[in-house]
Amino acid sequence: MTEKYRERVCNGYDHVLTIDERLYDVRTDHQHLLIFKNRAFGRVLALDGVIQTTEADEFIYHEMMVHVPVLAHGSVRRVLILGGGDGATLREVLRHRTIQQAILVEIDPSVIDLCRQYLPNHSMGAFDDPRATIVLDDGLHFLQTTHERFDLILTDSTDPDGPAEMLFSRPYYAACKASLAPGGVLVTQNGVAFLQLDEVRSSARHFNALFRDWHFFTAAVPTYAGGIMAFGWASDNPELRQQEATTLQRRFSQTGMTTRYYTPEIHRNAFALPQYILDAIGKTSP
Ligand code: SAM
Repeated sequence: MTEKYRERVCNGYDHVLTIDERLYDVRTDHQHLLIFKNRAFGRVLALDGVIQTTEADEFIYHEMMVHVPVLAHGSVRRVLILGGGDGATLREVLRHRTIQQAILVEIDPSVIDLCRQYLPNHSMGAFDDPRATIVLDDGLHFLQTTHERFDLILTDSTDPDGPAEMLFSRPYYAACKASLAPGGVLVTQNGVAFLQLDEVRSSARHFNALFRDWHFFTAAVPTYAGGIMAFGWASDNPELRQQEATTLQRRFSQTGMTTRYYTPEIHRNAFALPQYILDAIGKTSP
């Protein structure tokens, strides 16, 4: 009988994958960590019983988390990643030759160590890139103690229960704003909108109190059960979110990179939100 991984998405809804090979299972100082092989999605990382990332579909999340803000901004040089211990967000950031420095702040060293070993295709050497600095710390503590400024801040964390709880709080978003360089942008992992709409509402309230321009963009990641995944967007530069398709196309072409999900058209259209999300965040139109 094949062992099963069962994730309680919400009361009455479980997400189940076969565990075809259990690779690592440990309770770290911060969370329960499980890495296993699944015949449909390849190697899977789950933290505290929630799927974080899989080899098969990680490209969707990480390309959108990174290339939407980098190409909208147009001159990102310094990036801060809060969380991101699997290394794939760092990988996508460092694909941009224009990036001068990327600091990754991860609370749990076990995630980095074990993802290096069991999910090497996520980081693909990014942790060893000379432009990368890895800091072992709580994301909020780092923000409240750094004097550095960043063009792009990415919250690539677990969900707001457990170690990431404060990464969805007003003090955290205020600390992000204080650490953004002029014209910078914050992008956040903001949950599966249909089932975690309160997370979107809460981030929207904080963004609205702190930033001149904020919204959300979405992408469907198959292993994030429950529908489209919301990414929070917050900046004091309203122009970033309104970039013309021709600008995005030119910037994307200049990177010389190939992608498997991101396109300039997907980028622009990702900000078009379903009415139920617009209603939840108090915006009648995008
Ligand atoms: N990229 C994955 C995804 O698609 O959502 C998840 C990213 S990564 C696995 C999430 C990371 O956030 C974990 O490594 C976790 O340890 C880290 N994390 C959680 N709370 C944190 C905090 N307060 N400060 C820094 N890192 C934190």
